Amino acid sequence: MADTHPMIWGQVNDHLENSLNRLTYLTWFKPLRCLSTSGNTIIIGVPNDFHQGFLVSHYHNKIMAVLRELAGDNFEIHYQLVKDSDSPSIPTLKEEPQTVYKPDKSFDERTQLNQRYTFDNFVEGNCNTFARTTALAVAEAPGKTAFNPLFIYGLTGLGKTHLAQAIGNFSLANNKKLRVLYATSEKFVNDLIYAIREYKTTDFSRIYRSMDLLLIDDVQFFLGKGRSQLEFFHTFNSLYQAGKQIVLTSDRPPNELDDFDQRLIGRIGQGLVADIQPPDYETRLAILQRRAEADHLSFSEDIYDFIAAEFKDNIRELEASLTKLYAFCTIINRDITLEDARSVLKDQIKTSTAVISIEHIRQKVAEYHKISEDLLIARNRKKEVARARQIAMFLCTVLTKSSLMHIGLHFGNRDYSTVIHARDTISREIDSNPVLAREIELLKGRILSL
Ligand code: ADP
Ligand code: MG
Repeated sequence: MADTHPMIWGQVNDHLENSLNRLTYLTWFKPLRCLSTSGNTIIIGVPNDFHQGFLVSHYHNKIMAVLRELAGDNFEIHYQLVKDSDSPSIPTLKEEPQTVYKPDKSFDERTQLNQRYTFDNFVEGNCNTFARTTALAVAEAPGKTAFNPLFIYGLTGLGKTHLAQAIGNFSLANNKKLRVLYATSEKFVNDLIYAIREYKTTDFSRIYRSMDLLLIDDVQFFLGKGRSQLEFFHTFNSLYQAGKQIVLTSDRPPNELDDFDQRLIGRIGQGLVADIQPPDYETRLAILQRRAEADHLSFSEDIYDFIAAEFKDNIRELEASLTKLYAFCTIINRDITLEDARSVLKDQIKTSTAVISIEHIRQKVAEYHKISEDLLIARNRKKEVARARQIAMFLCTVLTKSSLMHIGLHFGNRDYSTVIHARDTISREIDSNPVLAREIELLKGRILSL
């Protein structure tokens, strides 16, 4: 009996998908998850407060009507906030409660892969072409290329998880027998903690070390976690020696994974390290259009143009802005104009071009160069310090609206001509020095993520 309850939500969901207009369904119902049933109550996970409020005020009656029609009067629906429906944290080793039901058929619990991430829907641009190409090569012949391990790094929201998952999905589609496992580093740590607590560390090792393709996402999460790092190192070695494919992602390059075992860093260096940069305007536009197309929706060109121009640093935010517009459309029930879009997205835009202070930039640059912030202000002429100071000044000219004089003032009352000199030196050098160019990109990312 307990098993039949959860299926009901699946039927309600199907019914709503067929009866509501597509936009409404995509916006308000697709993100819902049936979490569990308790007695006659079906508990539905909603992504945020706003969603819950709107759903309850506009659609609860409709949902109940469908439920009644399909299952009689016996059931109640409760709503509950859930964090991120894309990354269910279901430990591999734990036994699943019988009543959990997931209508999301695109998610495979065994491999932890979500079919929504594919190479086909990963838009290629200069920013990611190298990472995408090597990822595809690995997916076509896991363990058989020189790209082992494959290490993909880039700032948040640029497609690392998408690529890692796409590798898993692609290689599995090619070879159903391949043993594939995707895990965030957080899940790896949680699994390990659980295994230790339940005396199941052998099971833990067996599962992780039996894979033909292991994808570990966000390895920077292992920083400062000695025991997990060690276990990860052993897992890595065991797979590596057996010629199995390992794919790692990180928000920083390997040489910045400060407390990682040097042997591990060495091995990563022998594989392939590929970075993903923020997307250029054309790529952003292509991503927006592709996404809207996949959802069978379209906005006018000037709206795509506007979003692509405003959301530069993060594809997740780019997509979120589109979702927000969908929601708005279902509320107003007419085509939206550029003005609508501007006003709906104004809060998001504010955060993406938040007011960045000179102090904040100084702090991030000092941190990056591992020097004290005071040195940036002091009369210190040591080469490294002077260089870091120039970089910080340059970033202030790019990221703040402060005048050159004002910037000079915040760097130990220096003259504005010094600021101009710093700005021109760095911006000239960026073109010819890729290491510096990368540093600047990385710093910008850290400064803007506040
Ligand atoms: P990261 O893991 O680097 O933080 P994700 O892989 O989670 O970023 O990407 C964030 C969102 O942007 C996801 O929804 C992903 O599908 C989408 N995305 C990222 N890069 C691309 C791309 N090149 N083409 C299409 N969608 C992308
Ligand atoms: Mg990710």
